[in-house]
Amino acid sequence: MYCYNCMNKMSGDSNFCRRCGRNSIADRSAHHLAPGTLLNNRYMVGNALGEDGYSVTYIARDLNLDICVLVWEYYPMGRVTRDSAVSGAVIVGDDPNTRGLVSRGTDEFIAEARRSQQKGRDVRDIFAENNTAYVVTAAPAHETPFEQKESEQRGADAEAKAAQDDYRDGFNGAEAPVENGAFDDSSSHSGKMSATSQKPEQTKRQTQPNNKKKKKGAKALIAVSVVVVLVLIGAVVFFMINGRKSDGKTDASTAVTTAAATKPQKDEQSSDNTVKMMDTHGMKLSDAQTQLEERGLRVEVSREHSSEVAKDYIIRQSVDEGQTLHKGDSVMLYVSDGAEKESVTEEPHSAPYFSSITASSVRGDESVSFAPENVTVNDGSCWSAVSADNGEWIRFGAEDNQWVKGVSIVNGNARDNESFQQNARVTAIRFEFSDGTSIEKSVNDSMSLQNIDFGREVKTSGMKMTVIGHRDGSVYPYICISYIKPY
Ligand SMILES: [Zn+2]
Repeated sequence: MYCYNCMNKMSGDSNFCRRCGRNSIADRSAHHLAPGTLLNNRYMVGNALGEDGYSVTYIARDLNLDICVLVWEYYPMGRVTRDSAVSGAVIVGDDPNTRGLVSRGTDEFIAEARRSQQKGRDVRDIFAENNTAYVVTAAPAHETPFEQKESEQRGADAEAKAAQDDYRDGFNGAEAPVENGAFDDSSSHSGKMSATSQKPEQTKRQTQPNNKKKKKGAKALIAVSVVVVLVLIGAVVFFMINGRKSDGKTDASTAVTTAAATKPQKDEQSSDNTVKMMDTHGMKLSDAQTQLEERGLRVEVSREHSSEVAKDYIIRQSVDEGQTLHKGDSVMLYVSDGAEKESVTEEPHSAPYFSSITASSVRGDESVSFAPENVTVNDGSCWSAVSADNGEWIRFGAEDNQWVKGVSIVNGNARDNESFQQNARVTAIRFEFSDGTSIEKSVNDSMSLQNIDFGREVKTSGMKMTVIGHRDGSVYPYICISYIKPY
């Protein structure tokens, strides 16, 4: 018997949970899954912890591992309904537009979870059930979300806020940013696969219905994650310092007695007035400044534009890491002032030229060509893949590096309106470049020429465009694109 509040085991006949200090009362909202529901033959859900208009988060028990987890259910409020007294399945109305939105939203919800998983986030399971999609993430090990809320009120809020700056690659919600630990909110704007100009804070305010309860739990979750990360970093630094000392006995600045070896921090700011320079790359200026000043160094700041480093983060430093300085010495920190003006001062590059086009698949037809090269001319011909699945791709290759700022594109089979409707179209593309970077962008479901701007200039010898969202055609299960012109 589990407590529906915290999904920890309760002993005895009492309904009172000693773990969370409350009576186990089942959630009565008809649109939430009934507590006790088993998902994927494995996860028993408890009460809903919160919802944000696009998803519902439940506390749950992973019966295989016998631990608490969080289960995220794609539930776009207003577009789907459910009466859990009748069935756990969500019901989508008959309106084709709504069905399309929900279908794409579901795909994106799953895609986002996969991307997050690839980035190393603790996404434990992704599955479809009840006519919607689910994602399972870790619940905090030692605290229930309810207990966390209390600790959060004791100041984790500020920590979590600061942590957002450092914690950029979390799992984003599907159509809207979801503010919870694993579905990290700090990068939600990229999760929307469109412009990245909005600040996370703004995105939150604009798209999130109020859900204080969830938000607080979320921030506490982030805070817990960050504390763990900081502890790990601390441990690594400790061992690095110790390691360096043990094999650095020939180095004058570290010629210390064995006794001192147990106090690495002291050695860092040793009594002979020397200080070892730390590595500040990628740190926030204010943090680096504080730490350097604590070591007795003076900090000078030089600002420059950078398209790679976010504003107020450090690009490089005048003194190499590990170098010995004296207290009172100055170090120069080169700090990013954002990307805006960089391209203005640069010479414009000539238009990109790609000499080869390849694709994941090409639909065969005796009378009509659907070759990838068709996208080079805007004449109604198109590239068509053999499926309407996300993951189909088309790639532009070049002999040497090109500068690309975006692509002009005509979506779908644009021969005529009928062909357009009958075939599948792209709603989102991931662009991958030879420098290892990638950008995800949404694409309008329209036959008109549209520009997809990267917001920066990319130096690359190749551009792979992978379909990560699509809209099914009314007849043919083939993804089509009629025109792609890099600029
Ligand atoms: Zn409980």
